[in-house]
Amino acid sequence: MTPDNLESVMAGVPLPMILIGPDERIRAANSLAARKFGGDSVGRHYVTVLRQPTTLDAIEGVLRDGTPRQVKYLGTEARRETTFHVTCSPVAEAGRMGVLLCFEDVTHLEEAGQMRRDFVANVSHELRTPLTALIGFIETLRGAARDDPAARERFLDIMAREADRMNRLVRDLLQLSRVEGEERMRPTSTIDVRALAASAALSLKPVADKQGIAVVLAGEPGPVTLQADSDQMLQVFSNLIENAIKYGGCGGDVIVSITKDPADPSLRGPGVRIDVIDRGPGIDPVHLPRLTERFYRVDGHRSREMGGTGLGLAIVKHSVNRHRGRFRIESTVGQGSCFSIVLPMA
Ligand code: ADP
Repeated sequence: MTPDNLESVMAGVPLPMILIGPDERIRAANSLAARKFGGDSVGRHYVTVLRQPTTLDAIEGVLRDGTPRQVKYLGTEARRETTFHVTCSPVAEAGRMGVLLCFEDVTHLEEAGQMRRDFVANVSHELRTPLTALIGFIETLRGAARDDPAARERFLDIMAREADRMNRLVRDLLQLSRVEGEERMRPTSTIDVRALAASAALSLKPVADKQGIAVVLAGEPGPVTLQADSDQMLQVFSNLIENAIKYGGCGGDVIVSITKDPADPSLRGPGVRIDVIDRGPGIDPVHLPRLTERFYRVDGHRSREMGGTGLGLAIVKHSVNRHRGRFRIESTVGQGSCFSIVLPMA
């Protein structure tokens, strides 16, 4: 293939491509490359256009020995950090060597990798605290507190609490991974939303009793059926009601309201709306967009004290997504919060 018809091939490739001639000047750049490096790059020496030392070294190497190379090209586009894999391939032209560069955008892969690393770091951090406490108490029980029954009982209580915390964290992590794994599978069983909400409220009654409040069901008085995963929905209601009791119970009873809407605008069809309302301290608006992120807490210390894992709302978000529903949080500082789910009925 001559460099001339190589140019027409480059025009048809949906990736930025640059052809460097044996004279080290840019011979051709397809329209995507022109958009990335400016329209005036053809004819210029490649060093003045590409500038990144690793890319320049790779081009120099290919020109020297004709062996293909692959390097990373880091940049910023629209204030966003980008990463490209650049393949530098030799192109022979009348016995001399040119280089063809092809830029593949791998920014999303890099971002996914970073998210995975952050997630592992967060999980390790969350597990390390109770684990350190357990190791410390085991040492104390083997040593100083060996013959002190009162201290032993106290330490065993704390150890049970810490082990429980680790247990909850592992349970929530598994739950989150299951929900994420099933996000593309439509649920097929039929549930009664009202009965599930009542069941979640009943199992949280001891927690509500401790705060001296009640969880009150309102709205539709009879069964409200739709297609959903019963375990996941029970988990969603439990997470929201438990949060409302834990964080908002100081303001009085928690209301769980279930209403049917024959033409919900957010779903463009009939839906069921479940509002979990508390009259607690509310949440500052700056936190609202981030509440469903894994391990995001408004007050980390308070959440941990109350046995929170920071994963409850992430589980809610993914479960609601799987049901093609909507999840919204409204809150006014000093007045309380309303966590709403809208699920499609059809
Ligand atoms: P956690 O295990 O910490 O409760 P969640 O994901 O369930 O984790 O909730 C994330 C954070 O959102 C909580 O740490 C808390 O700060 C805040 N939050 C959740 N529900 C409420 C509520 N009803 N009132 C005030 N803050 C809330």
